[in-house]
Formats: sequence, structure tokens, C-alpha cells
Amino acid sequence: MNSYMIKDNIEKVRNNIIKAAERAGRDPGDITLIAVSKTKPVDMLKEAYDAGIRDFGENKVQEILDKYDKLPGDIRWHMIGHLQTNKVKYISDKVCMIHSVDSLKLATEISKHALKAGRVIPILIEVNVANEESKFGVSFDACEALIRDIAPLDGIKISGLMAIAPYTDDPEENRIYFKRLKQLSVDITSKNIDNITMGVLSMGMTGDYEVAVEEGASHVRVGTGIFGERNYAIG
Ligand SMILES: *Cc1c(COP(=O)(O)O)cnc(C)c1O
Repeated sequence: MNSYMIKDNIEKVRNNIIKAAERAGRDPGDITLIAVSKTKPVDMLKEAYDAGIRDFGENKVQEILDKYDKLPGDIRWHMIGHLQTNKVKYISDKVCMIHSVDSLKLATEISKHALKAGRVIPILIEVNVANEESKFGVSFDACEALIRDIAPLDGIKISGLMAIAPYTDDPEENRIYFKRLKQLSVDITSKNIDNITMGVLSMGMTGDYEVAVEEGASHVRVGTGIFGERNYAIG
């Protein structure tokens, strides 16, 4: 994919976000586009950076480490993939947010390393919205209890919820999951749990980000729609 296409793709995605926000009576400025750059080489990220992208999403610790020093320091790196507790230490001073927290054990480890790094790391609770066996995340029913367990930890701040909706050719099929995640965040907000906020709703990917925006996403995570198909064999 050449540079013109990345810039062009970003433009298209941005316009679609604006249109979806307007359909829902939302301010497009409230929505952050995260460019999901996993498996993609640094020069492609640079193209996206030059087109104005500052938020990048990666799902592997090693890949963040490989790319971090090769790109400008004002990039916000989002950890969006499953995170093993023994790898938290490598990225605790590098990521702006960890989207994929689904256990007290992981949150405790992030807390420990955030304190060492002298910072507060915003985290999201990952919800397995469709109860898919293949996916990580906590169930709807277990979400509030997990939040109550994690909330008192120092060095982290629960800032919202994240979901990966099922793969589908028809984005309308995922509207129900986005609605439910939004409702869950409203419900949890109403409980006034100390030290948490629910301002972030990280939902929507290439196939369904417009529906996610209509249903209240604050952050959409778009990979293929910006960088093209991924080739895991090479990447
Ligand atoms: C890969 C990935 C994305 C981006 O997926 P696309 O369909 O390529 O937009 C978003 N979120 C997570 C958690 C991912 O792992």
C-alpha cells in the first residue's frame, strides 16, 4: 500500500466518523481514532503520523518495544491486546492506556509497575460482549464486581470499558452489543464507585466503527481500514 492510500484511507475513516457522529447528534471531536498498526512496519506508521494520527494501537508488547524508539515521542501508544502479567513491566512507562484488563491479577501487576514508573496508568475493563469462548474479557455480569475489586489500587485509574464485537459482515448485527456496553457504562457510572470514571468506551473496528460511534464509542480502533489487510505470515 502506498503512502497516498494510507492518507486517503485516514481521510475516509475520519469523514465516516464525522458523519456517524452527526447522525447520532454527537460532537465528532469527542471521538478518538486509534490507528491499529499491529504487524505493520514503522514506515507505514510514519505515513499515518504525517497524516495527523497520534494514537496508535498495538496488541503485542514486543511490537510496541520495537516501534517505540523509531517514532516520534508525542505518539500515544494504546495496548489493545491480551497482556500477560510478566510483560507489564516492559510497557508500563510507554503506553498511554491499557484497553484489555480483565482480571484483578493483571490490574495488580499494572498497579505495581505504574507506581515504580511514578505514574497513573488509565485502564479499561475488557468485556466479552457476546460471550465468545475465543475471546478474553469479563462477562457483563461479572464486570461491576471486578471494577469494585480493582478500583482501590493505586497507580491505575479505571477510565471506561472496551469490547471486541464478533466478526460479522453485517455491522448492524453488532449494534446490540455496542448498546449493551454503553448501557453497562451508564449503570456503573450511577453506582458512584470511588476512583473510577466511565468516560472511555473503546469499541468499533474496521467493519463496524460507524455503528459503534452511533452507539456512543469514544475511541474506535481501526486497522485494516487504514493500513490494509494484515499478513501474519510476514508480519
Ligand atoms: C486488530 C485489532 C483491531 C483492528 O481490527 P481491524 O478489523 O483491522 O480494524 C481492533 N481492536 C483490537 C483489539 C485488535 O486486536
